Amino acid sequence: MHCPFCSEADTKVIDSRLVADGGQVRRRRECQACRERFTTFEVAELLMPRVIKQDGTREPFDEQKLRNGLHRALEKRPVSVEDIEASVNGIKRFLQVLGEREVKSLVIGEQVMDVLRNLDQVAYVRFASVYRSFQDISEFKEEIDKLQRKP
Ligand SMILES: [Zn+2]
Repeated sequence: MHCPFCSEADTKVIDSRLVADGGQVRRRRECQACRERFTTFEVAELLMPRVIKQDGTREPFDEQKLRNGLHRALEKRPVSVEDIEASVNGIKRFLQVLGEREVKSLVIGEQVMDVLRNLDQVAYVRFASVYRSFQDISEFKEEIDKLQRKP
């Protein structure tokens, strides 16, 4: 791996650890020429299904979009970046295990709701309100009542 600061070819791994539930390897590297340090992440590349949108058009699965959606729902909530990454990986694994070449965006949305319900209930209601386009306060109340009924 070339140094991003000086382009030197010789960089040394000084620390390596599993992150995001073991789905990623995080490496700290040090350039042997300029001594700058930087981080790389290594993930396995597995084929993701294509996404069938509501209007029937298809698009490639977009991990960043999924991650952004989770970050938006979890803004200012006490949930770590590590937990969000683990959720992203969990949802990706779920989609890979399905073994379909195409999945409806609805399937992904429902999976995000499941993950958020267990992670943070405020974020869950936030996401649900946008995703299911709540029209008025009674729909919020209904969703919150449902959460409180569940253990
Ligand atoms: Zn360098």
